Amino acid sequence: MEEELRAMAEDLEEFKRISRESVHADLFAQLQRRVEKITSLAKSGPIRRSKVKDMSAEVVDSNPYSRLMALQRMGIVKDYERIRNFSIAIVGIGGVGSVAAEMLTRCGIGRLLLYDYDTVELANMNRLFFRPDQVGMTKTDAAVQTLSDINPDVVLESYSMNITTVKGFETFTKSLTCQNTHSSKHFIGVDLVLSCVDNYEARMVVNQACNEINLTWIESGVSEDAVSGHIQLLIPGETACFACVPPLVVASGVDEKTLKRDGVCAASLPTTMGVIAGLLVQNALKFLLKFGHVSPYLGYNALKDFFPTMSMKPNLQCSNNSCLDRQREYVSRKPERDAAAKAKEAEMLSEAVETALHLDNEWNISIVGDDDVESSNASSSTSGMLPDGLIHELPTADFHQKAPIAQDSGAFPDDLDELRKHLDALNAA
Ligand SMILES: [Zn+2]
Repeated sequence: MEEELRAMAEDLEEFKRISRESVHADLFAQLQRRVEKITSLAKSGPIRRSKVKDMSAEVVDSNPYSRLMALQRMGIVKDYERIRNFSIAIVGIGGVGSVAAEMLTRCGIGRLLLYDYDTVELANMNRLFFRPDQVGMTKTDAAVQTLSDINPDVVLESYSMNITTVKGFETFTKSLTCQNTHSSKHFIGVDLVLSCVDNYEARMVVNQACNEINLTWIESGVSEDAVSGHIQLLIPGETACFACVPPLVVASGVDEKTLKRDGVCAASLPTTMGVIAGLLVQNALKFLLKFGHVSPYLGYNALKDFFPTMSMKPNLQCSNNSCLDRQREYVSRKPERDAAAKAKEAEMLSEAVETALHLDNEWNISIVGDDDVESSNASSSTSGMLPDGLIHELPTADFHQKAPIAQDSGAFPDDLDELRKHLDALNAA
């Protein structure tokens, strides 16, 4: 608004000069419009929408959830509204954590717990989310300020503290298990932890807490040169924990602090951080709402646009005792898991009745099953190689009608004399 006022003052000066010479009606009307606009801007405070009791699928411009609830109609998610029952803890509200928090807020998550000990600085402005007017605020408070404006339905909890201290760790583990009684909906504990911290020590603290509580978490990271990153799913006892496979620098015995050089700060790009935050929340949504495949490990190499994946089993000699406890529990629950898998298989067999994969829609967009795609691909295999799931809408090449091969007995003779006789016979005819 300041800039607008300055521009208007300049125009007024210009107006004073011109009006002495002649009355300039156009310029006057233009200025009048701008005065009205600035007055209305100054009068209007921040507009906050009221809370929404139930998520509705009604397609109206005023419904903040219509596009999300459409996921149900499209057959992607069975019951989207379940998202309101979940609590997610985000540790580290920096370039990745703040963006992840905004995504989850816009998706209508039930409750978000935000942990960070830092304050907003101007040096953070190359990343998304925080604004210059929030400089000096704690990151968690600034996040709560923005997120509550975006979606007042989300229960937000701000923990401005360092989880790596003894007291911090205690508060952290307690907050992950306790009950929230401040909202109309009672949340008990946390369903998923997202780690968006930038150092090994804090990751080990999250690992310790999650192994102790038996809580699934997704770890994320962006490299110091800003051009690669990763996410990793850690289910205590089932997948490798953070201590099972220590990062290379630690395995080689190098102190992490010596890796940081004075006066040299890590690079960061809003693009890489946005990509990692997107992958992180995408997998968090798939995990909670049970759709698609949750990646055990997904890397991102920005220079080559390469996304490596892999999975890691827990280490039987892990140095973390809680991890070993969880591993034993996981092994002991195998008969339970087998029975559940069998029951699910039987259920799927009984549901084998072919159902329509899509509803009628005005654009005539149709969704085909994987089998159909495969058979379509097979039928057009002559058209060249296409990635899985893509088919040609139009024929890929013009087919030349092949001339029918003469089938009569007068096939071309092999012998030259015979050929000559054949030609004479044709000419005589
Ligand atoms: Zn472990």
